[in-house]
Amino acid sequence: MSMKHPTSSTCPICHIGTLTEGQEQEYLLCTHCKTEVAINMEPRPASDYEVVEWYGPRWEFDVVAGFIRDGNRVLELGCGEGHFSRTILDKGIQYQGVDFNCAAIMTAKNQVNQTSHRYLTDLELASTPSDTLCAFHVIEHIPEPIHFLRDLLNKNQINRIFFSVPNPHRATVRMALREKWDYPPHHLYRFSESGLREMMRTLGFKVILVACEPMRNDEFMEIAEHRTPQWMPHRRETIGALHRCFSKIPQKYRPRLGQAMLMAFARA
Ligand SMILES: [Zn+2]
Repeated sequence: MSMKHPTSSTCPICHIGTLTEGQEQEYLLCTHCKTEVAINMEPRPASDYEVVEWYGPRWEFDVVAGFIRDGNRVLELGCGEGHFSRTILDKGIQYQGVDFNCAAIMTAKNQVNQTSHRYLTDLELASTPSDTLCAFHVIEHIPEPIHFLRDLLNKNQINRIFFSVPNPHRATVRMALREKWDYPPHHLYRFSESGLREMMRTLGFKVILVACEPMRNDEFMEIAEHRTPQWMPHRRETIGALHRCFSKIPQKYRPRLGQAMLMAFARA
C-alpha cells in the first residue's frame, strides 16, 4: 500500500504552508518553508541499503567532531560503516551507532573496534541515554520525521542535535541536473533550511549552526564539463586550466555549493 499526500494539504514539516506543484513531478513544494515532499511516501526497502547506499568520509564529520567533548554521550542514526565514529575515536565519550544495514554494521564492528563504541542494528537496543544526536543524510529518508524524532526525544536526554541533508543550494541543483539519488524512493524530502528550522522548533529546539559544504574539485569539474560548450576551441585545455585554478582555492574561500547542508540545534 502506498501512502500519498493529497495535493493542497498542509506541509507536514512546517505546518504553516500548503503543498503545491513545484518544479519536480515526484515532489510537492511547500509554499512557506520551500521543503519538497515526495508524492509517493513509500520508503525504499531496508534491504536496498546493503546494495546501493554510499558510505565514506564526509565533510561534516570533522565539523561536528569539533563540537564533541569528553563525557558526551553520542547517538548516531544511520552510522553505516562507522566513518563518523572513527573521527571521534580519540575522545572520551560514549557512542552508540545505529543502522538497519546489517552488512554496514558488521564492517563498523570489524573495523572500528573500540570499547566505548557500540554498533546496533535496531534503535530499540540503544540502552544508554544520550545527550547528543547525530544523523548525517538520514532524515530525508524517514516518512514521518517529526513523529519519529518526537518518539526518540521522549526516550532520551538529548539536548544537541546535528543533522546533515543534501545541500538545497548545491551547484548541481541550481543547474537543474537530475541526480537520481535525490528522488523517491531514495529521498522522501528535500529539506530547506527554513523547513528544518520549523520542524525542530515544533520539537522544542533552536538552530545554533547552519553551514554548507564547500564545492569539491570533482563537483567543479562536473559543472565545468556541463557548462563549457562543445564548440569551444581548445575546450579540453580550457577545462584543465579552470580546474587547476579552482583546485588552488582554499576550502574556506570556496563557494558553499557542495553536497551537504549541516544544521545544529539545541534545546530552546
Ligand atoms: Zn513547509
